[in-house]
Amino acid sequence: MSASTNQNLRLHSGFFHPTLRKWQSRLTSPSLDSLIYPLFVTDSDTPLVEQIESLPGQKRYSVDVLVDLLRPLVEKGLKSVILFGVINRLTKTADALSADSDENPVVKVIPILRKSFPDLLICCDLCLCAYTSHGHCGIFSEDPNSNESYIDNQKSIDRITEVALKYAQSGAHVVAPSDMMDGRVGAIKQKLIVNGLGSRVAVMAYSAKFASSFYGPFRDAAKSAPSFGDRSTYQLPCTSAGLAMRALKRDVDEGADVIMIKPGMPYLDIVRSARDRFPDMPVAVYQVSGEYAMLMHAVNKGTFDLEKAVMESLIAFHRAGADIVISYFVPFLLDKL
Ligand SMILES: [Zn+2]
Repeated sequence: MSASTNQNLRLHSGFFHPTLRKWQSRLTSPSLDSLIYPLFVTDSDTPLVEQIESLPGQKRYSVDVLVDLLRPLVEKGLKSVILFGVINRLTKTADALSADSDENPVVKVIPILRKSFPDLLICCDLCLCAYTSHGHCGIFSEDPNSNESYIDNQKSIDRITEVALKYAQSGAHVVAPSDMMDGRVGAIKQKLIVNGLGSRVAVMAYSAKFASSFYGPFRDAAKSAPSFGDRSTYQLPCTSAGLAMRALKRDVDEGADVIMIKPGMPYLDIVRSARDRFPDMPVAVYQVSGEYAMLMHAVNKGTFDLEKAVMESLIAFHRAGADIVISYFVPFLLDKL
């Protein structure tokens, strides 16, 4: 394999943007540079701001209202967002047809955000579950012998790489595969390289993503709960630090620019191990919906002070070794940092 297509030898994708360069600089304490704000973008064709019941204070936004929401946050120092598409109007199919259609809300909003906020680093969550009729993160095939259906790894990554390319061509700086299929990081890197985007789009891999009860509120927010079964055959068992380390290594070996651990607080040991094992890699952690909801419910009951509790959680992530924190608390933190 030549150097031009070997994704492990490609470094430019990890520092072509000012915020990515900050991510390469060991961020050891909470700062504006280390934060990514998750946003839910809907396909509503009328202006929509919709409260998410299970995530107090968080909302879903239609494409045309997002700029107005973000402007004051960018003025306060917001450096990065991660976009999640949510569809009601578009169709969900077995092969996630709407994930990369021109009508997809993420595909539509990326160029608008690029134009409105030229310095904002735009990350896109990359998965199929918000667009599949069955709500799973991959594509199913049927075993001809048993007639049982199973997640088809190759079909899934073929589809996920197509969606990655669409987001990249729409202007995403970072694509973040969260599906947990084997081999998708390498396949995405190759797809970007052969399409001339290898040095202009970073891959932030959800590497150690555990099958966690802490995702409950997110599935409501993104309307992505599986219609049958669960994700325990592709997300990691919470008992296995070994699998987490192998998943991290797999993604590093395939050329990931950033590795991620998810959820955050219950998995700080994994964050520490990732930092020790991969000292040269930017490490991200996702303070997930259940962590956010738990803290908010406790604060709303007067159990503890919001600012102190949130800052302590951020300090814990950085102390464990994370550089980057994805958090629903970002708007609140912009006033505090
Ligand atoms: Zn998914």
